[in-house]
Amino acid sequence: MTKTLNHFIDGKRVEGKSGRLGDVFNPATGDVTAQVPLASADEVRAVIAAAAAALPGWAATPPARRTQVLFKLRELLIEHTDELAELLSSEHGKTLPDARGELGRGIEVVEFACGIPQALKGEYSENVGSNVDSYTIRQPVGVVAGITPFNFPAMVPMWMYPVAIACGNTFVLKPSERDPSVAIRIAELASEAGLPDGVLNVVNGDKEAVDVLLTDERIDAISFVGSTQIGEYIYKTGCAHGKRVQALCGAKNHMIVLPDADMDQATDALMGAGYGSAGERCMAISVAVCVGDETADTLIGKLAPQVQALKVGPYTDEESEMGPVISRDSQDRIKDYVDAGVAAGAELVVDGRDISLQGYENGYFVGGCLFDKVTPDMSIYTDEIFGPVLCVVRAGDYDTALGLVNDHEYGNGAAIFTRDGDAARDFASRAKIGMIGINVPIPVPVAYHSFGGWKRSLFGDHHIHGMEGVRFYTRLKTMTTRWPSGIREGAEFNFKRGSDH
Ligand code: NAD
Repeated sequence: MTKTLNHFIDGKRVEGKSGRLGDVFNPATGDVTAQVPLASADEVRAVIAAAAAALPGWAATPPARRTQVLFKLRELLIEHTDELAELLSSEHGKTLPDARGELGRGIEVVEFACGIPQALKGEYSENVGSNVDSYTIRQPVGVVAGITPFNFPAMVPMWMYPVAIACGNTFVLKPSERDPSVAIRIAELASEAGLPDGVLNVVNGDKEAVDVLLTDERIDAISFVGSTQIGEYIYKTGCAHGKRVQALCGAKNHMIVLPDADMDQATDALMGAGYGSAGERCMAISVAVCVGDETADTLIGKLAPQVQALKVGPYTDEESEMGPVISRDSQDRIKDYVDAGVAAGAELVVDGRDISLQGYENGYFVGGCLFDKVTPDMSIYTDEIFGPVLCVVRAGDYDTALGLVNDHEYGNGAAIFTRDGDAARDFASRAKIGMIGINVPIPVPVAYHSFGGWKRSLFGDHHIHGMEGVRFYTRLKTMTTRWPSGIREGAEFNFKRGSDH
């Protein structure tokens, strides 16, 4: 019998009561492995009530005591990495090294959050006016909701709640309904680490659950990571209901390859950044802009045999370099894009559409696809495909390449490969992009810096984790105080001088 997953509410696993269930698949086989309860509006309201009830006590807990729990959680996450990676890969499909890497990046955010008392320190100014002092503190925003995508089911939630919790907020996580198990298990570990009941809750669901989080007046802030279409809706609806919202969204990340680049290094970079995790990364490189035909010819010559040789397979096979994509829909959508690219006249150098693996005929596999001579009007260039498809665009000069980066509607990440320091510096300064790599293909900021894009890759003002996370999850309060006696000898105090000891 297929197992039914739970929610995690108020410190324990709770069965769903709505009667609505969603299927969770093993993407390598196409089998249904579990069913996830899809919460009703009333169930979501009950979760919010648990988080709201836990808020006063948690917000009043000294920051250093709050972070003691996170130190313990870090230990548990390290101890359970293999178990968590297996759980993650079995629902997502990514290889075990990728899953372990994802957990490692999440743990780094927990480590950052362990030091948050330092970041919560306020500012103080003496005598801003006669006998007037002023000081500023950061207080928790309140109850925070996190709505997260399928592609990093452990790391993306961990971009959010360790920081939110360390800042004194309570949290309701609505993970992707496609691979929710790892988030539920980590919430259970947080409880084991000593997190009080109700501080971190996981509710599973779809639009019905999300809409309650966007409108319920007890939710103060929303962190969303996912597609641009949904993110824009989340941002507009959440803001219209008076909430603080950050929505990190879709991407089409370009990598410019200049003629002086180390072409072997650029090729290696593109193999990892274009095809790692089957291209299902918001920081994947999906467009390589080659400056000059010679650069493009050399790059394609080096890339094509490697893309052709990519070992595609299930996560259970240690040899696999690339797993399946997340769903049948996703597989079909990616193949449709490749068809559209061919129809529009792009040159399909490596065709991964018809890959079939013995024993895994029903899995959602797509082999690596490589296009040359892609032009900006093609849908394979304009749209986020979110699969193992790399488009090579040929540009006559550097300015044209930079123009492509800046004119694209997305602005998450971009990279430049060159040995020319002037060109790299110009690119870093002029690219309208949130995260830039110089000879680094996936410039994901470390946990104590902040992650976020520009243009339609981010709605809201704040990037995520690092100090931007602290700012998003806290409200600033400034006190102005006057003590009329002043600071002087012989000032009159409330008690009799000479008797104060
Ligand atoms: P998605 O937008 O389909 O889902 C994200 C979340 O929104 C899920 O929890 C889902 O249940 C919920 N949701 C889906 N439809 C909804 C609706 N109609 N109303 C309310 N909520 C809804 O995204 P996905 O397919 O899970 O993830 C892939 C996308 O996420 C890609 O576009 C990728 O670029 C993006 N992403 C962005 C970042 C970033 O930091 N910018 C990071 C990871 C992924």
